[in-house]
Amino acid sequence: MTEAVRARRILTMDPGRPEILDGGILIRDGRILAVGPWKDIAGHGVRRDLGAVTIVPGLINAHTHLELSHLARRITTGQGFMAWADSLFAAMREGPVDESAVDLAVRDARVSGTCCVADVVAREAGVVRRALDRQGLGGILLREFSGRNRDFSPPSLPGHWSAAIHSLYSTDQGFAQCVKGWCLGRNLPFSLHLAEVPGENELFRSGRGEFADFLLARRILPKGYEAPGLSAVEFARDLGLLDNSTLVVHCVQVGGRDVEILAESGASVCLCPRSNRLIGVGDPPASALHAAKIPLCLGTDSLASVPSLDLWEEVRAVRRLLPPSSPLQDLLAMVTVNPARALGILRDYGHLETGKRAAWAVLPGDLEER
Ligand SMILES: [Zn+2]
Repeated sequence: MTEAVRARRILTMDPGRPEILDGGILIRDGRILAVGPWKDIAGHGVRRDLGAVTIVPGLINAHTHLELSHLARRITTGQGFMAWADSLFAAMREGPVDESAVDLAVRDARVSGTCCVADVVAREAGVVRRALDRQGLGGILLREFSGRNRDFSPPSLPGHWSAAIHSLYSTDQGFAQCVKGWCLGRNLPFSLHLAEVPGENELFRSGRGEFADFLLARRILPKGYEAPGLSAVEFARDLGLLDNSTLVVHCVQVGGRDVEILAESGASVCLCPRSNRLIGVGDPPASALHAAKIPLCLGTDSLASVPSLDLWEEVRAVRRLLPPSSPLQDLLAMVTVNPARALGILRDYGHLETGKRAAWAVLPGDLEER
Protein backbone atom coordinates (compact mmCIF):
# COMPACT_ATOMS: atom_id res chain seq x y z
CA MET A 1 0.00 0.00 0.00
CA THR A 2 1.20 3.50 -0.76
CA GLU A 3 0.25 6.09 1.86
CA ALA A 4 0.04 9.86 1.46
CA VAL A 5 0.55 11.60 4.82
CA ARG A 6 -0.38 15.26 5.24
CA ALA A 7 0.87 17.77 7.83
CA ARG A 8 0.40 21.51 8.20
CA ARG A 9 4.17 21.97 8.12
CA ILE A 10 7.13 19.70 7.38
CA LEU A 11 10.66 20.58 8.51
CA THR A 12 12.77 18.27 6.36
CA MET A 13 16.30 19.19 7.60
CA ASP A 14 17.20 19.26 3.89
CA PRO A 15 18.98 22.63 3.42
CA GLY A 16 17.70 22.81 -0.16
CA ARG A 17 14.09 22.79 1.02
CA PRO A 18 13.95 23.10 4.80
CA GLU A 19 10.27 23.93 5.20
CA ILE A 20 7.13 22.82 3.37
CA LEU A 21 3.84 24.41 4.38
CA ASP A 22 0.80 22.14 3.89
CA GLY A 23 3.14 19.31 3.03
CA GLY A 24 2.83 15.65 2.22
CA ILE A 25 4.98 12.54 2.39
CA LEU A 26 4.43 9.55 0.14
CA ILE A 27 5.35 6.25 1.81
CA ARG A 28 5.65 2.65 0.67
CA ASP A 29 7.15 -0.29 2.58
CA GLY A 30 8.40 2.01 5.33
CA ARG A 31 10.41 4.24 2.96
CA ILE A 32 9.79 7.73 1.67
CA LEU A 33 8.90 7.85 -2.02
CA ALA A 34 8.44 11.62 -2.19
CA VAL A 35 8.15 14.74 -0.01
CA GLY A 36 6.50 17.91 -1.25
CA PRO A 37 3.47 20.20 -1.23
CA TRP A 38 0.29 18.27 -0.37
CA LYS A 39 -1.24 19.11 -3.74
CA ASP A 40 1.54 17.12 -5.45
CA ILE A 41 1.39 14.16 -3.05
CA ALA A 42 -2.34 13.77 -2.30
CA GLY A 43 -3.36 11.92 -5.46
CA HIS A 44 -0.74 9.17 -5.21
CA GLY A 45 -1.71 7.16 -2.13
CA VAL A 46 -4.19 6.39 0.61
CA ARG A 47 -4.63 9.65 2.45
CA ARG A 48 -3.85 10.24 6.13
CA ASP A 49 -4.06 13.72 7.64
CA LEU A 50 -1.94 14.40 10.75
CA GLY A 51 -3.65 17.77 11.20
CA ALA A 52 -2.27 21.13 12.31
CA VAL A 53 1.15 19.88 13.37
CA THR A 54 4.77 20.42 12.43
CA ILE A 55 6.61 17.20 11.69
CA VAL A 56 10.37 16.71 11.72
CA PRO A 57 12.61 13.71 10.97
CA GLY A 58 12.35 10.91 13.54
CA LEU A 59 14.59 11.67 16.52
CA ILE A 60 17.89 9.91 17.15
CA ASN A 61 18.95 9.42 20.75
CA ALA A 62 22.73 9.43 20.45
CA HIS A 63 23.52 7.98 23.88
CA THR A 64 21.53 5.54 25.99
CA HIS A 65 22.20 2.49 28.17
CA LEU A 66 18.91 0.62 27.82
CA GLU A 67 20.15 -2.36 29.85
CA LEU A 68 20.06 -0.11 32.93
CA SER A 69 16.34 0.65 32.53
CA HIS A 70 15.33 -1.44 35.56
CA LEU A 71 17.32 0.97 37.76
CA ALA A 72 14.90 3.85 37.18
CA ARG A 73 14.42 5.86 40.39
CA ARG A 74 16.73 3.52 42.34
CA ILE A 75 20.00 5.42 42.05
CA THR A 76 21.21 8.31 44.22
CA THR A 77 21.20 11.54 42.24
CA GLY A 78 21.97 15.15 43.09
CA GLN A 79 25.02 14.35 45.23
CA GLY A 80 27.67 14.23 42.56
CA PHE A 81 29.16 11.57 40.34
CA MET A 82 30.88 9.50 43.02
CA ALA A 83 27.71 8.99 45.12
CA TRP A 84 25.80 8.21 41.93
CA ALA A 85 28.41 5.70 40.72
CA ASP A 86 28.59 3.87 44.07
CA SER A 87 24.81 3.65 44.15
CA LEU A 88 24.81 2.35 40.57
CA PHE A 89 27.48 -0.29 41.26
CA ALA A 90 25.49 -1.54 44.29
CA ALA A 91 22.21 -1.70 42.36
CA MET A 92 23.86 -3.54 39.46
CA ARG A 93 25.17 -6.19 41.84
CA GLU A 94 21.67 -6.76 43.21
CA GLY A 95 20.12 -8.39 40.19
CA PRO A 96 20.03 -9.07 36.48
CA VAL A 97 18.77 -6.86 33.69
CA ASP A 98 14.97 -6.81 33.52
CA GLU A 99 13.77 -7.33 29.95
CA SER A 100 10.30 -5.90 30.63
CA ALA A 101 11.88 -2.65 31.91
CA VAL A 102 13.92 -2.40 28.71
CA ASP A 103 10.74 -2.93 26.68
CA LEU A 104 8.94 -0.23 28.60
CA ALA A 105 11.83 2.24 28.15
CA VAL A 106 12.01 1.57 24.40
CA ARG A 107 8.25 2.03 24.10
CA ASP A 108 8.41 5.36 25.92
CA ALA A 109 11.24 6.51 23.67
CA ARG A 110 9.26 5.59 20.57
CA VAL A 111 6.08 7.27 21.78
CA SER A 112 7.98 10.54 22.30
CA GLY A 113 9.24 10.57 18.70
CA THR A 114 12.51 8.63 18.83
CA CYS A 115 13.10 6.42 15.79
CA CYS A 116 16.65 5.25 16.48
CA VAL A 117 19.06 4.96 19.42
CA ALA A 118 22.80 4.56 19.80
CA ASP A 119 22.82 2.24 22.78
CA VAL A 120 25.92 1.50 24.81
CA VAL A 121 25.79 -2.09 26.04
CA ALA A 122 28.18 -3.80 28.42
CA ARG A 123 26.26 -6.98 29.21
CA GLU A 124 22.90 -7.63 27.58
CA ALA A 125 23.03 -6.84 23.88
CA GLY A 126 20.50 -9.57 23.07
CA VAL A 127 17.93 -8.16 25.48
CA VAL A 128 18.33 -4.66 24.04
CA ARG A 129 18.18 -5.79 20.42
CA ARG A 130 15.04 -7.86 21.04
CA ALA A 131 13.31 -4.90 22.71
CA LEU A 132 14.25 -2.58 19.82
CA ASP A 133 12.99 -5.10 17.26
CA ARG A 134 9.71 -5.68 19.15
CA GLN A 135 9.01 -1.95 19.23
CA GLY A 136 10.20 -1.30 15.68
CA LEU A 137 12.93 1.09 16.79
CA GLY A 138 16.18 1.39 14.85
CA GLY A 139 19.39 1.05 16.80
CA ILE A 140 23.13 0.80 16.65
CA LEU A 141 24.57 -1.06 19.63
CA LEU A 142 27.94 0.17 20.90
CA ARG A 143 29.61 -2.66 22.81
CA GLU A 144 31.42 -1.02 25.70
CA PHE A 145 34.90 -2.05 26.83
CA SER A 146 37.02 -0.99 29.79
CA GLY A 147 40.02 -2.24 31.76
CA ARG A 148 43.04 -3.58 29.91
CA ASN A 149 43.36 -6.22 27.27
CA ARG A 150 46.13 -7.12 24.85
CA ASP A 151 43.95 -8.58 22.15
CA PHE A 152 40.80 -7.14 20.73
CA SER A 153 38.60 -9.48 18.74
CA PRO A 154 35.08 -8.87 20.01
CA PRO A 155 32.32 -11.41 19.33
CA SER A 156 29.56 -10.17 17.05
CA LEU A 157 26.42 -8.58 18.45
CA PRO A 158 22.95 -8.94 16.93
CA GLY A 159 22.14 -6.37 14.21
CA HIS A 160 24.04 -3.16 13.48
CA TRP A 161 26.78 -2.62 16.05
CA SER A 162 30.17 -1.11 16.78
CA ALA A 163 32.50 -0.72 19.76
CA ALA A 164 33.11 1.91 22.43
CA ILE A 165 35.24 2.37 25.51
CA HIS A 166 33.73 3.45 28.77
CA SER A 167 36.22 6.24 29.54
CA LEU A 168 39.91 7.05 29.71
CA TYR A 169 39.99 6.64 33.49
CA SER A 170 38.53 3.12 33.35
CA THR A 171 40.35 1.90 30.22
CA ASP A 172 44.05 1.34 29.61
CA GLN A 173 45.25 3.81 26.98
CA GLY A 174 46.73 1.13 24.71
CA PHE A 175 43.50 -0.82 24.84
CA ALA A 176 41.51 2.35 24.06
CA GLN A 177 43.65 2.86 20.95
CA CYS A 178 43.12 -0.77 19.99
CA VAL A 179 39.30 -0.42 20.17
CA LYS A 180 39.40 2.84 18.22
CA GLY A 181 41.65 1.23 15.59
CA TRP A 182 39.24 -1.68 15.24
CA CYS A 183 36.35 0.75 14.58
CA LEU A 184 38.42 2.83 12.15
CA GLY A 185 39.44 -0.25 10.17
CA ARG A 186 35.78 -1.10 9.65
CA ASN A 187 34.60 2.46 9.04
CA LEU A 188 32.41 2.26 12.14
CA PRO A 189 31.63 4.89 14.78
CA PHE A 190 33.47 4.89 18.10
CA SER A 191 32.34 6.45 21.34
CA LEU A 192 33.57 7.24 24.84
CA HIS A 193 32.45 9.16 27.92
CA LEU A 194 34.85 12.12 28.29
CA ALA A 195 35.19 15.07 30.67
CA GLU A 196 31.97 14.27 32.51
CA VAL A 197 33.23 14.19 36.07
CA PRO A 198 34.62 17.12 38.10
CA GLY A 199 38.14 15.98 38.93
CA GLU A 200 38.65 14.14 35.62
CA ASN A 201 41.02 16.83 34.35
CA GLU A 202 42.88 16.95 37.66
CA LEU A 203 43.28 13.17 37.50
CA PHE A 204 44.84 13.25 34.02
CA ARG A 205 46.95 16.32 34.78
CA SER A 206 48.43 15.23 38.11
CA GLY A 207 47.13 11.77 39.03
CA ARG A 208 45.80 13.26 42.23
CA GLY A 209 42.57 14.53 43.73
CA GLU A 210 39.33 13.25 45.18
CA PHE A 211 38.30 11.54 41.97
CA ALA A 212 41.68 9.78 41.67
CA ASP A 213 41.29 8.54 45.28
CA PHE A 214 37.78 7.31 44.47
CA LEU A 215 39.02 5.33 41.44
CA LEU A 216 42.06 3.91 43.24
CA ALA A 217 39.94 2.75 46.19
CA ARG A 218 37.66 0.86 43.81
CA ARG A 219 40.57 -0.53 41.78
CA ILE A 220 39.26 1.17 38.65
CA LEU A 221 42.60 2.94 38.38
CA PRO A 222 45.70 0.74 38.83
CA LYS A 223 48.16 1.33 41.68
CA GLY A 224 51.07 3.46 40.54
CA TYR A 225 48.96 5.20 37.91
CA GLU A 226 51.01 7.70 35.93
CA ALA A 227 49.08 10.73 34.73
CA PRO A 228 49.78 11.95 31.18
CA GLY A 229 49.83 15.58 32.39
CA LEU A 230 47.03 16.65 30.06
CA SER A 231 43.39 17.62 30.16
CA ALA A 232 40.93 14.83 29.36
CA VAL A 233 40.35 16.21 25.86
CA GLU A 234 44.09 16.69 25.19
CA PHE A 235 44.71 13.13 26.36
CA ALA A 236 42.03 11.74 23.99
CA ARG A 237 43.48 13.76 21.11
CA ASP A 238 47.06 12.62 21.78
CA LEU A 239 45.89 8.99 21.80
CA GLY A 240 44.39 9.47 18.34
CA LEU A 241 40.86 8.88 19.57
CA LEU A 242 39.30 12.06 18.19
CA ASP A 243 38.22 12.23 14.56
CA ASN A 244 35.06 12.54 12.53
CA SER A 245 33.95 8.99 13.35
CA THR A 246 34.15 9.53 17.12
CA LEU A 247 31.20 10.51 19.28
CA VAL A 248 32.45 12.11 22.49
CA VAL A 249 29.85 11.90 25.23
CA HIS A 250 29.29 14.59 27.91
CA CYS A 251 32.14 17.19 27.62
CA VAL A 252 30.99 19.02 30.74
CA GLN A 253 34.48 19.74 32.11
CA VAL A 254 35.99 21.42 29.04
CA GLY A 255 37.78 24.75 28.79
CA GLY A 256 38.42 27.07 25.86
CA ARG A 257 41.45 25.17 24.53
CA ASP A 258 39.56 21.85 24.83
CA VAL A 259 36.72 23.29 22.75
CA GLU A 260 39.24 24.30 20.06
CA ILE A 261 40.76 20.82 20.05
CA LEU A 262 37.35 19.20 19.71
CA ALA A 263 36.44 21.56 16.85
CA GLU A 264 39.71 20.88 15.03
CA SER A 265 39.32 17.12 15.44
CA GLY A 266 36.01 16.82 13.56
CA ALA A 267 34.57 14.70 16.37
CA SER A 268 30.90 14.98 17.26
CA VAL A 269 29.93 15.74 20.84
CA CYS A 270 26.88 14.20 22.47
CA LEU A 271 25.49 16.31 25.29
CA CYS A 272 23.33 14.74 28.00
CA PRO A 273 22.34 17.91 29.93
CA ARG A 274 19.55 16.40 32.03
CA SER A 275 21.74 13.54 33.22
CA ASN A 276 24.56 15.96 34.05
CA ARG A 277 22.21 18.18 36.03
CA LEU A 278 20.55 15.28 37.89
CA ILE A 279 23.79 13.55 38.84
CA GLY A 280 25.23 16.90 39.88
CA VAL A 281 28.32 17.23 37.65
CA GLY A 282 27.36 20.65 36.26
CA ASP A 283 26.14 21.93 32.91
CA PRO A 284 28.04 21.40 29.65
CA PRO A 285 29.32 24.62 27.98
CA ALA A 286 26.77 24.17 25.19
CA SER A 287 27.07 27.75 23.94
CA ALA A 288 30.84 27.56 23.47
CA LEU A 289 30.63 24.14 21.81
CA HIS A 290 27.85 25.33 19.52
CA ALA A 291 29.66 28.58 18.68
CA ALA A 292 32.74 26.53 17.72
CA LYS A 293 30.54 24.72 15.17
CA ILE A 294 31.17 21.32 16.72
CA PRO A 295 28.52 18.87 15.50
CA LEU A 296 26.38 18.49 18.61
CA CYS A 297 24.11 15.55 19.32
CA LEU A 298 21.84 14.88 22.26
CA GLY A 299 21.43 11.77 24.37
CA THR A 300 19.30 11.02 27.37
CA ASP A 301 21.84 8.65 28.96
CA SER A 302 20.11 5.93 30.99
CA LEU A 303 17.13 5.77 33.32
CA ALA A 304 19.72 5.43 36.10
CA SER A 305 20.32 9.17 35.72
CA VAL A 306 17.23 10.65 34.01
CA PRO A 307 13.51 10.20 34.68
CA SER A 308 12.57 9.50 31.05
CA LEU A 309 13.98 8.74 27.60
CA ASP A 310 11.98 11.63 26.11
CA LEU A 311 14.50 13.31 23.81
CA TRP A 312 12.37 16.45 23.56
CA GLU A 313 13.18 17.02 27.25
CA GLU A 314 16.85 16.99 26.27
CA VAL A 315 16.15 19.55 23.53
CA ARG A 316 14.44 21.79 26.11
CA ALA A 317 17.36 21.37 28.50
CA VAL A 318 19.99 22.33 25.92
CA ARG A 319 17.85 25.24 24.70
CA ARG A 320 18.10 26.73 28.20
CA LEU A 321 21.91 26.60 27.89
CA LEU A 322 22.05 28.31 24.47
CA PRO A 323 21.48 31.97 23.56
CA PRO A 324 17.75 32.71 23.08
CA SER A 325 18.45 33.58 19.43
CA SER A 326 19.63 30.04 18.59
CA PRO A 327 17.64 28.84 15.57
CA LEU A 328 15.21 25.93 15.91
CA GLN A 329 17.01 24.24 13.00
CA ASP A 330 20.21 24.07 15.08
CA LEU A 331 18.34 22.39 17.95
CA LEU A 332 16.65 19.95 15.59
CA ALA A 333 19.99 19.11 13.94
CA MET A 334 21.20 17.81 17.32
CA VAL A 335 18.54 15.06 17.32
CA THR A 336 18.34 14.35 13.57
CA VAL A 337 21.04 15.01 10.99
CA ASN A 338 24.03 15.41 13.35
CA PRO A 339 23.62 12.05 15.13
CA ALA A 340 22.75 10.36 11.81
CA ARG A 341 26.05 11.60 10.39
CA ALA A 342 28.06 10.82 13.55
CA LEU A 343 26.72 7.28 13.72
CA GLY A 344 27.03 6.52 10.01
CA ILE A 345 23.28 6.03 9.52
CA LEU A 346 22.58 9.02 7.28
CA ARG A 347 21.43 6.65 4.54
CA ASP A 348 18.33 5.83 6.57
CA TYR A 349 17.80 8.68 9.02
CA GLY A 350 18.33 12.37 9.65
CA HIS A 351 16.17 13.98 6.94
CA LEU A 352 12.69 13.66 5.56
CA GLU A 353 13.64 12.98 1.97
CA THR A 354 13.19 10.40 -0.78
CA GLY A 355 14.73 7.01 -0.03
CA LYS A 356 15.01 7.41 3.74
CA ARG A 357 12.96 5.62 6.34
CA ALA A 358 9.48 7.00 6.86
CA ALA A 359 10.13 8.03 10.46
CA TRP A 360 8.99 11.38 11.80
CA ALA A 361 8.23 13.10 15.07
CA VAL A 362 5.71 15.81 15.88
CA LEU A 363 7.34 19.03 17.10
CA PRO A 364 5.92 19.94 20.54
CA GLY A 365 4.11 23.29 20.55
CA ASP A 366 6.45 24.91 23.09
CA LEU A 367 9.42 24.30 20.75
CA GLU A 368 7.90 26.09 17.76
CA GLU A 369 9.97 29.16 16.76
CA ARG A 370 10.04 31.86 19.38
ZN1 LIG B 1 26.55 7.03 29.40
